[in-house]
Amino acid sequence: MKIGIDMDEVLADFFLCDIQLHNQLFDEQLTKETLGNQYVDHKYPEKSKAMRMARNFPGHFLRFPPLPHSQEVVERLSERHELFIVSSAIMFPNSMVDKLSWLEKYFPVISKDRVVFTASKYLLDLDVLIDDHVRNFDGFKGVGILFSSPHNAEINYEMRCADWLEVEREILRLE
Ligand SMILES: [Mg+2]
Repeated sequence: MKIGIDMDEVLADFFLCDIQLHNQLFDEQLTKETLGNQYVDHKYPEKSKAMRMARNFPGHFLRFPPLPHSQEVVERLSERHELFIVSSAIMFPNSMVDKLSWLEKYFPVISKDRVVFTASKYLLDLDVLIDDHVRNFDGFKGVGILFSSPHNAEINYEMRCADWLEVEREILRLE
């Protein structure tokens, strides 16, 4: 199968890095736990402009840790499927260079010619798309797998996976 994989909040822990960035900028000690399911921008909208600017600093996206089990499962899936990276990236144009380096470091099994930067993911001829935003499944012709993230916890969606081991099981079922 042709499988598209989103980056932020699917392969890369954007949520954690955002909290660290907030703490660094505003000298605070927030954690995932103290924030609950809220993004820092939602909790502190008055600081969102400074956060947006800081996120676009070259190098910021290199700090993201990969999410648990993502590397091992992607490697196993790559043995049986064509994997593509599908990232919107356009919100933070400087992130594109970082994202390519980040993929080379953590996911060398996916070659650069299989990286697609677009917010119009529905256009892609993929069998499966793994993403943390249900809006990316609108008009998409394949199967959308929603990857759980604090921001989508309240969304009702049938095909949801809490982590990469669940994604692997779901893909096996679809094979
Ligand atoms: Mg995402």
